Amino acid sequence: MTYSIETVGKDLYIDGGWRPGSDGRRIEIFDPATEQPIASVADASVADGIAAIEAAHRAGPAWAAIAPRERAEVLRRAFDLMHKHKESLARLITLENGKALGEARGEVAYAAEFLRWFSEEAVRILGEIGTAPSGTNRMLVIRQPVGVSLFITPWNFPAAMATRKIGPALAAGCSVVLKPAPETPLTALAMAALFTEAGVPAGVVNVIPTSRAGEVTSAMLKDPRVRKLSFTGSTRTGRILLAQAAENVIKCSMELGGNAPFIVCEDADLDVAVASAMVAKLRNGGQSCTAANRFYAHKAVAAEFAKRFAGAMREVKVGPGMQDGTELGPLIHGGARNNVARLVDQALAGGARALSGGKAPAGKGSFYEPTVLFETRDDMPVMREEIFGPVAPIASFESEDEAIELANRTEMGLVSYIHTRDIGRGLRISERLEAGMVGLNRGLVSDPAAPFGGWKQSGIGREGAHEGILEFLETKYIATSW
Ligand code: ADP
Repeated sequence: MTYSIETVGKDLYIDGGWRPGSDGRRIEIFDPATEQPIASVADASVADGIAAIEAAHRAGPAWAAIAPRERAEVLRRAFDLMHKHKESLARLITLENGKALGEARGEVAYAAEFLRWFSEEAVRILGEIGTAPSGTNRMLVIRQPVGVSLFITPWNFPAAMATRKIGPALAAGCSVVLKPAPETPLTALAMAALFTEAGVPAGVVNVIPTSRAGEVTSAMLKDPRVRKLSFTGSTRTGRILLAQAAENVIKCSMELGGNAPFIVCEDADLDVAVASAMVAKLRNGGQSCTAANRFYAHKAVAAEFAKRFAGAMREVKVGPGMQDGTELGPLIHGGARNNVARLVDQALAGGARALSGGKAPAGKGSFYEPTVLFETRDDMPVMREEIFGPVAPIASFESEDEAIELANRTEMGLVSYIHTRDIGRGLRISERLEAGMVGLNRGLVSDPAAPFGGWKQSGIGREGAHEGILEFLETKYIATSW
């Protein structure tokens, strides 16, 4: 089995087999570096979506009934297979998503880690037992798989967003239907084949790319066999899905947008702050919900931080993801680049200064230059909207209280970053930030062993850690007299 662009399955993966869409439609996939088509995959219809649920529903009980140790070993084999095929999976990611090959390799390793972590969690699904306060009976609490789970994933991490959901679901004993983003279905289809190679039975993992997301998923959410929805994407789409899920009271996990502040205190180690800003800003070309979106530096260090940060940004090698030495690939498509360009142009027109970049380079591909904007203001769209590109707007603050107030002035609450040499101050600020995650002297928080998730409109529920598997387990309390 190989997972190259030539060999990867390009039809729908339902009930352990490949099939074309019921109405024969296809989705064209483009290489963001050239904006040329590279392949086409089957485009699932409503009937295909329902067929996938049917398959998952049929396969679920047998999967839930096998020994947790066996489920763990299947996941562990999938982890090993991802490492064995790391290079071809990374190339697939770069082809359809555009990210630099080095980053794609990093994504494969990160994605695989969710499978290893949840293979370890599969055998740690525990319950509780206690005596009722009245003393008359015992109270037993057990946890059981929630059932058929529907996953909707974005294009920015085509492998990791899939394994972060499939790993805990399989560990818990659930069967799944994955609807990947129409921009990046090839990686998801490769994962379907890889899970089968690892020993996942037919029907337990189904993958259905579709260009008709609204129509197909709303039909699936009306199907009473669907018990769980896990979504990663924009807050806008998350709201629509939550409303649809309300009808059948489907359990929801939502990983939505971010607008992460990055605070640099006057006592920060600026070399560390710049290195960490580079990671927080440029991971995945800035196309990540954890991307640092607004930089607030104390006025005593703001100019120096901005200068060093811009210097580092100018050194970044921009080019096609497959090219040797490329550090920053193109954005996902021309629309994304145009949106980034709009935000930068508005900021420049409003008085911000570009210390690096500030435009899209000429030529083919949806590239944008690594950009540092200095003296931005909070009323500029670049500070309020999710940028999703390699652009870092920097404003300054005068007091700790002001920095916290600015950081929290958003309806989002996914992650915040702080840099200070004073760890007591760092923890004090961390406690006051309205965010599900904090990077304290670190520009990277994601870890399969840690609970990933947001406060406020950034989401509901957690992925990774032990909490990640609880999202796929129902609690049952049994009142018992012995
Ligand atoms: P982005 O704008 O970054 O693509 P979206 O939230 O639109 O973010 O997309 C994330 C995922 O949600 C993708 O798989 C996309 O196909 C899917 N999606 C978009 N709109 C809907 C919808 N109305 N119903 C269900 N899924 C949707």
